[in-house]
Amino acid sequence: MLRTWVWLILLLTWVACAPPVPTATPLPTATPQPVATPTPEPMSPTEVSRWQPGQLMIVLMDVRHGDAQLIVSPTGESLLIDVGTEDYASKIAEKIRAVLGKLEVDYFLASHYHIDHIGAFVPLVRDQGLVVRKAVLDRGSGRDAYNSATYRRYFDYLADPSRGLKRVRLVTGDQIDLGPALQVTALSVGDSDAQTNCGIKVQGKNDNDYSIVLWLTFGAFDYWTAGDLSGMDTLEYTNVESSCAKLVPRPADLFKANHHAISTNNNASLLQALQPQVTVISLDGIDNTDALMRMLKAGSTVFTTNRIITLAEDNKTPIIINDSDDIVILTRDGNEFSVEGTVFKSR
Ligand SMILES: [Zn+2]
Repeated sequence: MLRTWVWLILLLTWVACAPPVPTATPLPTATPQPVATPTPEPMSPTEVSRWQPGQLMIVLMDVRHGDAQLIVSPTGESLLIDVGTEDYASKIAEKIRAVLGKLEVDYFLASHYHIDHIGAFVPLVRDQGLVVRKAVLDRGSGRDAYNSATYRRYFDYLADPSRGLKRVRLVTGDQIDLGPALQVTALSVGDSDAQTNCGIKVQGKNDNDYSIVLWLTFGAFDYWTAGDLSGMDTLEYTNVESSCAKLVPRPADLFKANHHAISTNNNASLLQALQPQVTVISLDGIDNTDALMRMLKAGSTVFTTNRIITLAEDNKTPIIINDSDDIVILTRDGNEFSVEGTVFKSR
C-alpha cells in the first residue's frame, strides 16, 4: 500500500450541483506529511502523453461498454489488457501509437472471452497492424471454451501459424515479465475446463466467472485488475470475488473496478480486502449505483471513463451528464502516483 500521497488531476469535474474541483489536490495519507510538488499542467482529456523511460504508465481507455488498458513498465515493456469491441480497433491503435510511438506491444492479455474485451483483437492485429512481440496470454482452453463467433475468430486467428502469434495459457501464480522493476502476478486464472476460479467451483454459465485476476506491484504501488469478475451468486453468476479477496496480499493503491462497476460486482468483502485509494472504472452507466456507493463508502476516490455521472435527488439514479475520456495513471518511483481523468462525485 502506498504510504505517501496521491496526486489527483481532476479534469472535466463539473457535475450537476457539484462545485468545480481544483486542478490538483494532494491527499495526505500518512505522516510525516510529504513535501508538496508543483502542480502538473493538466492535459486535454483527448490527448495521451508519450510514455517516458522510468515511468510506470497505465492508460485505461474509453471504449464505452468494454475494457481496454495499456500498461507500460519503467523499462518500456508493454502489456495490453483487453481491447473492447471491434469498432474500437482504430482508436486503440491510435492510443498505442501516441503512448509508445509505435504500434507494437510485448504482450496482449485477454481477461476473458466476452466481445467487449476481445472483440477488437483480430481487427487490431490484422487490419491496423498491431505487432504483439512476445505472446498473447489468456486462460487457454479449446475452440469451444466459450460459445461465440468472436471467440472462435480469436481462437482461429491465433491458431493459424501464418499469423506468427504465440498464444500462451496463463496459470495461477504465473508472472508476466515486464522488466525488473515491476512484478505482475496472476493471482488467479479461471479454468473453464475444471469450472474453477480463485479456488472455488463456479457455475460457468457466464464467462465473467473465469476472469483472470492480476496483481501488479511497483515499489510501494499496488494495482488490482480482474476483468469482469463476478461478485454475487445469481442464476447466471457465481460470487468469485469473495474467494479472490482472500488472495489479496495487502491493500491496493489502485483498483480497476470489476465488470464496469455493475452492482452485482465489486462486493463489500473484496473492497474491504483491497481498501483501494483510487478506483478506476470503464463505465457505461448501466446499473452502477450500488457499486459506486460501496466504493465511495470504502473511502476510494473514483474515476470513470466514458461518462460523467452524478446521482439524482434520490441519491440513487445515475444521471449521465457528458462523455469523458481515458484515465491515465503515472508513477516514477512507486511512492506517489498521479491520476488524470474524470472524478465521480455523488451529491
Ligand atoms: Zn465486460
